[in-house]
Amino acid sequence: MAESDHRLAEAKAMPIEQVVNLLGIQGLARAGHELVGPCPACGGRDRFGVNLRKGVFLCRRCEAKGGTIDLVMLTLGMEFKAALEWLSGPSQELSPEERRKREKRAEENRLVNEARAARERAEAIRMAREIWAEGQPPEGTAVRAYLSRRGIAENLLPALPKCIRFAPALPFTVKVDKGWEVIHCGPAMLAAVQGPNGVLSAVHRTWLDLDQPKGKAIITDPKTGEIQPSKKVIGSKKGGAIRLSGHMHQASVMVMGEGIETTLSAMISGVDAGAMFWAGVDLGNMAGRRRTRGEGVKFAGLPDLEDDEAFVPPPCVQRLVYVMDGDSEPRLTRAKLMSGLRRAMLKRPGLKGQIASAPQGLDLNDVLMGKAND
Ligand SMILES: [Zn+2]
Repeated sequence: MAESDHRLAEAKAMPIEQVVNLLGIQGLARAGHELVGPCPACGGRDRFGVNLRKGVFLCRRCEAKGGTIDLVMLTLGMEFKAALEWLSGPSQELSPEERRKREKRAEENRLVNEARAARERAEAIRMAREIWAEGQPPEGTAVRAYLSRRGIAENLLPALPKCIRFAPALPFTVKVDKGWEVIHCGPAMLAAVQGPNGVLSAVHRTWLDLDQPKGKAIITDPKTGEIQPSKKVIGSKKGGAIRLSGHMHQASVMVMGEGIETTLSAMISGVDAGAMFWAGVDLGNMAGRRRTRGEGVKFAGLPDLEDDEAFVPPPCVQRLVYVMDGDSEPRLTRAKLMSGLRRAMLKRPGLKGQIASAPQGLDLNDVLMGKAND
């Protein structure tokens, strides 16, 4: 078994991008520190992502995920042993000297990967702080008009949260071969994402276009013709939140939705007045990593407790309410929310977790806008 150990370490330390290239996986486009495209197992268009910083992949549809060896197993349909052999060569008796050399090389690969990931992360946070510093007060701008359009009326929210700003002409960039290319420039809503220590670690951006029914810009990549998401986060969102009810506000109840609009809708609805209302940025951050292997585990909502980057509420919170949008896939969304709540309850003994659902097929923001009557 000893000789397979170094092969395992070596295979795990290989840059995942190199493995993608070795496997000849087609159609993946670079988006920031990710490669995004069709899943090698179940196809599609953009359901499959490879995180180059972390050396992991994930398919949103078939939920295949893992590192370099798992990627070989998925793409070539191999068992673990064959995949390891495909990556690191057959098991063989190595001289101690050769083994040391291989281990050294694997360790060097790992350090290079980690250093690059740390560099890219620091650069993304620096850019986020720059964008935030240039943001303007949102009152009387397209931000106010956009939120009104989404049912968050000025009389219900007389003062916009401090964590919201306005950017009159924010560039929207896509990653190209060498660097970034601006494909759109326009007004945007900025929201500060604060890490657990309260420091700004990322900025959430929503590009606005009040000529569109929902008020969000429709941005098309001129090269690929693909419609881009009108919301993007720059920086490090891990464990962070958009603190809509105020930076210093402390309460024993926290209500958290995925998006800014949903959470603001909950805030002005008057339910749990006095609670803290924080947006969780995205479902992945609220859920953290889950355990998905094994019989009946997929929808069980069990947290992977080794993930120490997922969101956990501050110690003052005794009741954590996750708002579940009814328009997402209900079983999986519930499993993800449960995973996050269970992690929070294990890390904060005494905390109670709860899911509040919007009616089927609607998110809370739609409810507020009266679509619940349809
Ligand atoms: Zn898939």
